[in-house]
Amino acid sequence: MKHAIDFRLTPVLPVAESNETFPVGRIYCVGRNYAEHAREMGHDPEREPPFFFMKPADAIVRNGATIPFPRVTRDLHHEIEMVVAIGKGGAEIPVEKALGHVYGYAVGLDMTRRDIQGEAKKMGRPWEMGKAFDNSAPCTAVKPVSMIGHPAKGAIWLKVNGKVTQKGDLSEMIWNVPDMISYLSKLITLRAGDLIMSGTPAGVGPVKPGDRLEGHVDGVGDLTVSYAK
Ligand code: MN
Repeated sequence: MKHAIDFRLTPVLPVAESNETFPVGRIYCVGRNYAEHAREMGHDPEREPPFFFMKPADAIVRNGATIPFPRVTRDLHHEIEMVVAIGKGGAEIPVEKALGHVYGYAVGLDMTRRDIQGEAKKMGRPWEMGKAFDNSAPCTAVKPVSMIGHPAKGAIWLKVNGKVTQKGDLSEMIWNVPDMISYLSKLITLRAGDLIMSGTPAGVGPVKPGDRLEGHVDGVGDLTVSYAK
């Protein structure tokens, strides 16, 4: 088959300590999945079922990159998150079988144009222009389950220019990894290659041109990106 325009290559993430890559399909993000973060955004975490939004796969930025500062926004925010890489698709996945669908884990940033997202919330409009913009999903290499198992507790933190801004523990997730996979797979059919950004702990805040972000998840990895001046 001849393509009318250049065929778009699927974005890939490196697989840690191997020559393989992990081709990225869709990126689902869980909203307000840590109680303290839900509170800082003005919500009661106890009453809300999980909800999801998306980013395009080509929003991925590799670990170590320098990122052009995004257009339009005056309030770019960082959200450090553990990323779940789906290795086996499925629909209506029971909680007790959910971990069998995971290929591995990575460390990601759900970069957010908070001013645009805030405007969308206020107007009852979709969040995409606040969440799904160019370079909005920096992500490390994927570490396979065979290497690290399934991290359910351990520190998750972010430093801006060497200073800790976000700090939490994976065990504080309101909806843990099996829960979110099961829940999401009731809404859509998951496919191998899909990523799930699992939510961010408290302490989200602004990022300025020239800032350096360093994120960490125990056992999963370290992510460093810088913003151009
Ligand atoms: Mn997020």
